[in-house]
Amino acid sequence: MARYTGSACKLCRRENEKLFLKGERCYSAKCSFEKRAYAPGDHGKTGSSRGGSDRVSDYSRQLRAKQKARRTYAVLERQFRRVYGIAEKAPGITGTNLLQLLETRLDNVVFRLGYADSRAHARQMVSHGHFLVNGIRSDIPSMILKPGDQIVIREESKKKPQFQSLGDYAEKRNCALWLDRDVKAISGRVLRIPERTEIDGNITEQLIVEFYSR
Ligand code: SF4
Repeated sequence: MARYTGSACKLCRRENEKLFLKGERCYSAKCSFEKRAYAPGDHGKTGSSRGGSDRVSDYSRQLRAKQKARRTYAVLERQFRRVYGIAEKAPGITGTNLLQLLETRLDNVVFRLGYADSRAHARQMVSHGHFLVNGIRSDIPSMILKPGDQIVIREESKKKPQFQSLGDYAEKRNCALWLDRDVKAISGRVLRIPERTEIDGNITEQLIVEFYSR
């Protein structure tokens, strides 16, 4: 399963915005974006490598919106395009469908339930096979969940030292309103598909639709 293995912080600097890809570190003084708020690369400080001039083309804005969404959810281009295709065919507004599909990915649901401090962490937990979905072990982070689907940590995993205090940890973290969780059992359930207003991340989905409609 292919994934981006470069520096997460460079992605924030490239998008000129904190994408909160590294959990607690993002809220600390160690955040790279706080220290170097310019794009990576030789021309980063001049601003030219992130469209620093006033003349930003429509294409550039559309591309950046798409890249930001892709990077926020840690999805590679081919998979993102595939999800967009599903969103396009589904009834309703394509941009909203896209974000709802991204939100209901298994790794994102684990993150939104509060069992991981970043999507990268959630993805690792899922791909290591620590969760059951509707009773079946699932190690596919991109799996799209639907209302009624239940996830729970495997009994074997629950006994591992790194998961002993996961329930207490999650209790201090918010759980999305469209999910239900039981921190003692380290489980959760999708109550419904999230409304657009419940999906944060400062993503302009209309620009993504325009990007793929060119
Ligand atoms: Fe982005 Fe977090 Fe790195 Fe800061 S610490 S640059 S918010 S990934």
